[in-house]
Amino acid sequence: MIDSALLGLAEFAPGNVWLVGAGPGDPGLLSALALHALAHADDVVYDALVDPRILRLARPGAALDYAGKRGGRPSPSQPDISARLIRLARAGRRVLRLKGGDPCVFGRGGEEALALAAAGVPFRIVPGITAGIGGLAYAGIPVTHRETNSAVTFLTGHDSEGEVPGALDWNAIARGAPVLVLYMASRHLPKIVARLLAGGRSPDEPVAIVSKATTPTQSVLVSTLGEISTAATGIQTPSIVVIGEVVRLRGALDGVGALERPIASDQ
Ligand code: SAH
Repeated sequence: MIDSALLGLAEFAPGNVWLVGAGPGDPGLLSALALHALAHADDVVYDALVDPRILRLARPGAALDYAGKRGGRPSPSQPDISARLIRLARAGRRVLRLKGGDPCVFGRGGEEALALAAAGVPFRIVPGITAGIGGLAYAGIPVTHRETNSAVTFLTGHDSEGEVPGALDWNAIARGAPVLVLYMASRHLPKIVARLLAGGRSPDEPVAIVSKATTPTQSVLVSTLGEISTAATGIQTPSIVVIGEVVRLRGALDGVGALERPIASDQ
């Protein structure tokens, strides 16, 4: 499918684990290394956010091993997943640990890599296109733009306890972060918005929510900081929230990245 010699791709050796980002959904956003890993893996250990169209690209005969929540049962713990990767690698398998977006952006890639390093298992990290950049691009929203912002801040909407991250200085963020991109924010969005407004952000500031970004059912909601908490009720997940003036560029840029295969967009 791809010429790995021409591209100079590394061999996926038995006994290795590759921690690979699958991107936000559209299989066209996979890297050549990700495709190469899918073509050679013996085991694919994947998370809930990996698009089913991407799993279909795995080598016929590869074992597909789901590492997310299933049928209401709690998801396997992080140590369990790391132990599984180590066990498979020690059995001489080529282990593809596949994660949505980029493995190291709110994806625990670092934790798994540390566990592999501690166990002496050889591994490689293959970055992927993160939802907070690629997903916004598919909605016509650039994360930086010369006239509007020279910084962008990526945040998670909840910490490991499931709460609004308390360790963050929300006033400093409100004052100093011109564009905010929020992952996992649907549950606590009203609380986060309240903190930003209390920190001095304008209720008129534009906000967009991109749901199921880069998939055929992508949708985009555009609102303002003052109204988003009400407007966002019932929004489909996964969704990414972007707050800042870059949202206004969407009017001119919608359609970039979706030229060949139009993506539904309701706003
Ligand atoms: N490692 C991933 C993020 C994992 S955290 C990455 O780099 O993209 C999970 C969060 O990512 C979701 O709650 C959502 O906020 C965001 N996300 C992932 N895929 C998405 C998609 N296709 N559309 C919108 N948001 C997405």
